[in-house]
Amino acid sequence: MRNEVKCGVCPARINGAGKLVRCAIAACFFYAPLSLVASDDSRSTPISNVVLISIDTLRADHLGAYGYRKSVTPNLDQLAGEGIVFEHAYTPVPLTLPAHTSLLTGEYPPKNGVRDNGEALPASAPTLAERLRENGLHTAAFVGAFVLDRRFGLARGFENYWGDFQLFRYQGKDPGMIQIRGDRVEAAVEEWITAHRSERFFAFVHFYDLHGPYLLPEPWLSRFGEDVYDGELAYTDDLIGRLWKGLQKLGLADRTALIVTADHGEGLGDHGERHHGFFLYNSTINIPLIVRLPAGASGGTRVQNVARLTDIAPTVCSLLGVPLLPTFQGHSLMPEVEGKTLSPEPAYSETLYPYRHFHTAPLYAIQTEHYSFISAPRREVYDLNLDPKQTHNLALSSTGVANRLESDLKQIAGPQAPQATAQMSPEAMRALNSLGYVGSISGAGSPVDIAHLPDPKDRIRLFGRYQDALAMGNEGNLRSAIELEKIAKLDPALVNVQIDAGLARRSLHQEASALSHFKAAARADPSNALAHFHLGVSLSNLHRDREAMPEFLIATKLQPWFSQAYTAQGLAAARVQDMTFAKASFDRAIQLDPEDFDALLNRGKLLTMTSRWLDARQDLKRAVSLNPDSGAVHQALGTLDFYQGDLNSALEEYQRALKLNDSDASIHANVALLYERLGQPQKARAEFQRSLRLDPTNQEAIEGLRRIP
Ligand SMILES: [Zn+2]
Repeated sequence: MRNEVKCGVCPARINGAGKLVRCAIAACFFYAPLSLVASDDSRSTPISNVVLISIDTLRADHLGAYGYRKSVTPNLDQLAGEGIVFEHAYTPVPLTLPAHTSLLTGEYPPKNGVRDNGEALPASAPTLAERLRENGLHTAAFVGAFVLDRRFGLARGFENYWGDFQLFRYQGKDPGMIQIRGDRVEAAVEEWITAHRSERFFAFVHFYDLHGPYLLPEPWLSRFGEDVYDGELAYTDDLIGRLWKGLQKLGLADRTALIVTADHGEGLGDHGERHHGFFLYNSTINIPLIVRLPAGASGGTRVQNVARLTDIAPTVCSLLGVPLLPTFQGHSLMPEVEGKTLSPEPAYSETLYPYRHFHTAPLYAIQTEHYSFISAPRREVYDLNLDPKQTHNLALSSTGVANRLESDLKQIAGPQAPQATAQMSPEAMRALNSLGYVGSISGAGSPVDIAHLPDPKDRIRLFGRYQDALAMGNEGNLRSAIELEKIAKLDPALVNVQIDAGLARRSLHQEASALSHFKAAARADPSNALAHFHLGVSLSNLHRDREAMPEFLIATKLQPWFSQAYTAQGLAAARVQDMTFAKASFDRAIQLDPEDFDALLNRGKLLTMTSRWLDARQDLKRAVSLNPDSGAVHQALGTLDFYQGDLNSALEEYQRALKLNDSDASIHANVALLYERLGQPQKARAEFQRSLRLDPTNQEAIEGLRRIP
């Protein structure tokens, strides 16, 4: 997770009292308990349930319902035809976790505090799911990406938060790559809905397939060839068709409102942006929003007013007859469905990604029905009616419009908005202070002077070059490290580039070089937890565990969810014989991630050493069930059996370990010791010899061969 600090900027954009009253009346009238949908063709269709589907990375203009000529989405287009289509819906942030946090809290990122991937939602922030649960609905979420893992706080209020990512299988991988394919997500949803078909429920479904890396199966792969984005979209559309048919079969389609949206779009090369997060153009912030009511009520309605991702939570409450949370910053969209004209409100968007990760100014934007305004060192204004592709910047020719929109942006976002302060906990500050980092935290607590930072527009080509270098590394090209280092030389404060250069050097077993990059990253942004984590790992790999431990401590203070940092901290502590701290670190890692294989294995080993055999066995059994192909866990079980006096079981476990990893000198030495104990000196000698061939310094083997000449 490449994200660190939180900001507490709070835009003063809670609905005015008048609007709240109006929404409340609308809710009572149209969606009173066991909500009734009012519409010409269906005046009394009860809504028991809502299924909210988020298709990650779906730009609106790739749906037939939004004018895409290729039309690869027959199911979504049919649902759109039977539903209400919001033509101008926007995400407040083109990043997966912050956008979903806004979706599921109804608050903008500056208010809920989640402005980048990897930042956890504060426990004090109320969520839509909690609200629905309190009001008697059954709630479940099905997430297809680790980026939305329960540790980031979105699980609150969901009785069932499905998504098991087994992090240990992805060591060294970008967390954004960790995903579950859509067919498994869809099957899990269907199973849960089938079990809850006679109850009122809210199901949140997240498909990650359109987000790279692509895992497109056949026949879509052959059908779409190079056009993988549309292929993944067609595949996801098929899954949504399957889910919808499932609801129909269960007799739920007439009682369930279906909402389909996206967290953000995808650049696909527009404005030079390949993916999302760097810019705030429509390719990534204009999202689809389709609401299909039971019996297709109000079907065919197309809403022109600006809609926001933050409007969805209040809309879900309205549909289900649940009172809105006072914290919502959006409003229910149902009046618009009813054809009521609301006073136009612009949509706010931001991205701190280029600021936090690529040493540029952050971006802030508002979208009105007419204009798009982007606050940047070189500000931008586009007339969306005449120039929907945003190619003619009017900021210089229409300064009056630009000034008015800039003032509107400031009003929405609050006077503090154009800042990206590192708001860290006192604990994190203390930890950084103890290592002398604090003096170098630039801008902590003060507004970012964006005028003196490069405009993201001026760095998009360099960003593309960085992405190319990463792709080279993923393809196993050894020049990736050199290319990343060349980019880092251009600006040593490019935090992500430094981290990736470090990882590239580590993959080449050049840990000392890796260390220098992680140090540079931590210096450039002391609030970057990932930089401290990898710096700690490098120090540990270089047998400098005592120096590594404070770095892990900082990483965990900055990102309290960071289970891998606790595990690494535990390993370093164990190596310096601080077993109490090691145990506490593993405990915390397992508390955060009960499937943290490395923490379970190492806590099991630690408990074996301290003769807590029952607890040790519990951990090791759990570890072996997670990863039966790990030689290390069979070796640890063998050692536990050995200590408990079951020599035959110990031998079996060691032999299993050897089958999985025949080149480990320590396992051969262990097997030799067992043969020696079992009175089989010839076999013992042979194993000691094997061990010594693999590692001429192995003390067990050297001493063993002295005993058995
Ligand atoms: Zn996303």
